Amino acid sequence: MSNQNSLVIRYGELGLKGGNRNTFEHALCDNLKVALKDVPGFKTSRQRGRITCNADIDLAPFAERASKVFGITSVSPATTTYLDADLIVARTIECVGEALINDFAGRDEVPFRITVKRANKQFPLRSRELTQKIAEAVLPLHPQLKVNLQNAELNLEVDIREELASVFARRHKGYGGLPVGSMGRGMCLLSGGIDSPVAAWMCMKRGMRMEFISFYSFPHVGPQTREKIIRLAEKIGEYQPRTILHMIPFAPYQEAIRDNCPASYRTVLYRRAMQRIATAMAKRNRCKALITGESLGQVASQTMQNIAAIEDASGLPVLRPLIGMDKTEAIELAKRIGTFELSIQPVPDCCTVFQPESPVIHGSAEEAQLAEADLDIANLTYAAVIGAEKLEFPER
Ligand code: ATP
Ligand code: MG
Repeated sequence: MSNQNSLVIRYGELGLKGGNRNTFEHALCDNLKVALKDVPGFKTSRQRGRITCNADIDLAPFAERASKVFGITSVSPATTTYLDADLIVARTIECVGEALINDFAGRDEVPFRITVKRANKQFPLRSRELTQKIAEAVLPLHPQLKVNLQNAELNLEVDIREELASVFARRHKGYGGLPVGSMGRGMCLLSGGIDSPVAAWMCMKRGMRMEFISFYSFPHVGPQTREKIIRLAEKIGEYQPRTILHMIPFAPYQEAIRDNCPASYRTVLYRRAMQRIATAMAKRNRCKALITGESLGQVASQTMQNIAAIEDASGLPVLRPLIGMDKTEAIELAKRIGTFELSIQPVPDCCTVFQPESPVIHGSAEEAQLAEADLDIANLTYAAVIGAEKLEFPER
């Protein structure tokens, strides 16, 4: 097996960002370096529209992990070689052989093409001549290869640059989006459910660095709830360099609502309390928005009226990336990003604590304000913020 000592990385939208392009590319390289920090000798270099990574070891096993870094559209494990036509041809033979074994085993026909890019015009062979030379070497070895320029499934690519050439044939698809950190910071209200991790992931994909806040109603819910939230935050944290989770002791606020406010408004008031505490925590941590997993009409607290009554208590923009999603769509995405199995573990949530028989469905901000008139909001909020427990992943 050849030593695929480099990764060729493509990114889509970044290239469109005009003057900011440099910043975006730097952010992407930084995030890649964190994602692959355990790889000895890992280095990145930027060329027009591409990033090439090199290391002291075979990088093919890391292509999948690299492809999860937001901003990247695809990753190809590649072999870098000197600018010698015979060496390049030898590498293409190995490369096609491996691709056929790994991706096309058992296929009688594989639509195939060769794509040579000769950025270095000093290279003695023209693109067509090199293509011809490779074809003559590769095609007789694998009768299943059928040249098909328009609909190739196996595209053998050769990039001829100033000092080196790269040879590659496989692509690991990335998620696209923008590098985490390039669009500021957000604070995601993370419950143990399916939706909020997906909401966080969607905003992270668009370049937002995410912090998490979770409301924990100990002792009304047990330590398994805390464990579950930590595991979820850790899991979504795989998509960004570093993750912070704030666990908020929520029982005192909930008890005050139970004791001082109309029962039918409890759920809306819990949510308003969450908005206030999350706003305070976000502002302390330079987060510019709150992110929730709310989706229109999914549960009683998510009617348009209740969403408005809840947002009234927020001091920051509330982003709801799932607002137009069906539950099945959220579930599909949760499976894809790896949070689903954790989310479905049956562990109680703070929202079910002291749940009323008939919660209000079409609330309003005015009624909610009246309902909480007897609460000492400032002190309850302050106590929750002061009592926050801060956790960091990966742990240091
Ligand atoms: P999820 O699947 O994310 O729990 P859900 O469909 O169950 O969402 P709700 O329980 O009504 O909906 O919660 C709506 C949103 O409020 C959640 O997506 C989350 O952002 C926030 N939220 C609810 N409970 C908590 C909590 N205990 N801690 C932090 N945020 C919460
Ligand atoms: Mg929930």
